[in-house]
Amino acid sequence: MRDFLIAGNWKMNGSTAANAELVAGIVAGVPAGGGFSLLVCPPFPYVAAVVAQAEGSPVKVGAQNVSEHEKGAFTGEVAPGMLKDIGCDYVIVGHSERRALYGESSAQVAAKFVAAQAAGITPILCVGETLEEREAGATEKVVDEQLDAALEAAGIDAFGAAVIAYEPVWAIGTGMTATPEQAQDVHRHIRARLGALNAQIAAGVQILYGGSMKGENAAGLLAQPDIDGGLIGGASLKAGDFLAIAQAAAGIN
Ligand code: PEP
Repeated sequence: MRDFLIAGNWKMNGSTAANAELVAGIVAGVPAGGGFSLLVCPPFPYVAAVVAQAEGSPVKVGAQNVSEHEKGAFTGEVAPGMLKDIGCDYVIVGHSERRALYGESSAQVAAKFVAAQAAGITPILCVGETLEEREAGATEKVVDEQLDAALEAAGIDAFGAAVIAYEPVWAIGTGMTATPEQAQDVHRHIRARLGALNAQIAAGVQILYGGSMKGENAAGLLAQPDIDGGLIGGASLKAGDFLAIAQAAAGIN
């Protein structure tokens, strides 16, 4: 069966001192038992320090964004090989904030997905609909378009070394969580779409839920058959809040 992945997206928060305290708190409180992994994704300037601090612990480290280019004249960008070089295991691609605020298209996100994998980093591909799209009955259409761009660029086999995060945009940072049933419906749909191409890959891929996940609602979401963890924003900034979600995952396995 699939393990849970509990991933924290710190966004543009933290400082050297605050991060050190947060990582120390997480490392000290990792729940006993197996069947889950923990991942933190700090802002770029802190990734290397967090990698060093987390070394030897079960906590993995990822980044929040990456360039689709390998190297060269791309001022301000960070190449996938650089992330690999500093010990990064994962990178988030296509977060809704990147799509909405920085105009990242599904094609560009797919190129980032491919570039990350080429450098040996596991991409976490974010997909999800806005409230307007959900209310128009377009949730599956939107998610399919975002997923298909990565499938077309990378092929189904690439999802053997990738993670998907279903993050309804209306639930991110709003306190409005999808119900376990709403989330499960979309997760089932995503897995079925991959399953039509390769049943084995679809059965193995981790599909995380993201959108106001916290200790109080994590168990209900994680109990769903196609929900394999969480991508967590707000509740990843305090060790106790993040560990409460990890505890829910540990309690299910
Ligand atoms: C996110 O940014 O990926 C996210 C899910 O944020 P929050 O948990 O704060 O809704």
